[in-house]
Amino acid sequence: MLPDIKSLAREALEAQFAAWRQPAYRVTQLLDWLYARRAAGWEVMTNLPQSLRAKLAENFSLQTLELVRKQGTADSTQKFLWRLRDRALVESVLIPANPALYGEASDRHTLCLSTQVGCAYGCKFCASGLDGWKRNLTPDEIVEQVLAVERARNAECRMPIENQSGAGQTTPHSALRAPRWIDNVVVMGMGEPLANYDNLLKALSIVNAPWGGGIGARKITISTSGLVPQIRRLAAEPFQFRLAVSLHGATDAVRNRLMPVNRKYPLLELIAACEEYQRQKGRMITFEYILIAGVNDAIEQARPLAALARKLFAKVNLIPYNQVAGLPWQRPAEDVCEAFLAALKKQKVAATLRREKGGDIDAACGQLRLRTERELAHFFT
Ligand code: SF4
Repeated sequence: MLPDIKSLAREALEAQFAAWRQPAYRVTQLLDWLYARRAAGWEVMTNLPQSLRAKLAENFSLQTLELVRKQGTADSTQKFLWRLRDRALVESVLIPANPALYGEASDRHTLCLSTQVGCAYGCKFCASGLDGWKRNLTPDEIVEQVLAVERARNAECRMPIENQSGAGQTTPHSALRAPRWIDNVVVMGMGEPLANYDNLLKALSIVNAPWGGGIGARKITISTSGLVPQIRRLAAEPFQFRLAVSLHGATDAVRNRLMPVNRKYPLLELIAACEEYQRQKGRMITFEYILIAGVNDAIEQARPLAALARKLFAKVNLIPYNQVAGLPWQRPAEDVCEAFLAALKKQKVAATLRREKGGDIDAACGQLRLRTERELAHFFT
């Protein structure tokens, strides 16, 4: 199988083009096609000589993601289900930063990316891990989620598109530059991102590069269930990515019940690694905390959570559980969630509570894929 062109950083392309005796500006032209115009095929790259396009096609693939299903409307959270080249399915979720309460389109968007097909970590509440881990995503499959969502979004919203090819010329739609929609990236979708460390970092460096996705490092958040060695490794990297820890329990007893990873890396080790990250980066860490009825939503549990948050100056994002078919866990009542939030605030913790109704669109990570795979399995048997 040929390597995909979107797995290559600029330096690697420059080296390749130099070996082919191509002028350096051709790399700039190629990158413009890939990341500003989001070209989906070599044939639209009309300012590259035909011979160079043929050489590129001989040596690299240029894969795009096939949209299988989409849920949600342009003004709300949208979930995209993609089919990869081996027919595996993954999800991306586009979340408006401020939902259009007054009928106007939101202008800021966060994209939640997947990094693996399935997940090996088996958190008890999560749909992504239900059928186990299948494989890691390649860097281009991670990068392409950003580009594919922007392509889909522009097509959907019929944005006015700037013609870059000069007045009077007929330019195919795919050869035009279109506005960017995505301001923030969170790596919080299917899979444990830090278990696909090298591909993740390669992909995020492309998403972050001015010649690539152009999304600032501080607008990119990597989430982990608590892989301690990789958090320490990330702390030593030059990137300024934000770190979010999926905590979901503030004691080992609760975390052990929900997240098998805690038996390998218990809280003491996890918090020490987070402190190291914070020391190196000087960045605020976020704790994600899914509120599950009768498991981790009691007011008494707000106290150890507040203690951890204060120790790390961490912000806490409370997320009421989205029910997953086949799993026994329930979402707490609204007043329970509000009381938990108030208890954290009373203990001087910066905390937020997600209030949107995600349940309508299979919002829990991995649910849309799971449902589609089961429907397809049913259909073909
Ligand atoms: S919550 Fe994250 S780490 Fe845990 S099983 Fe789901 S995808 Fe994997």
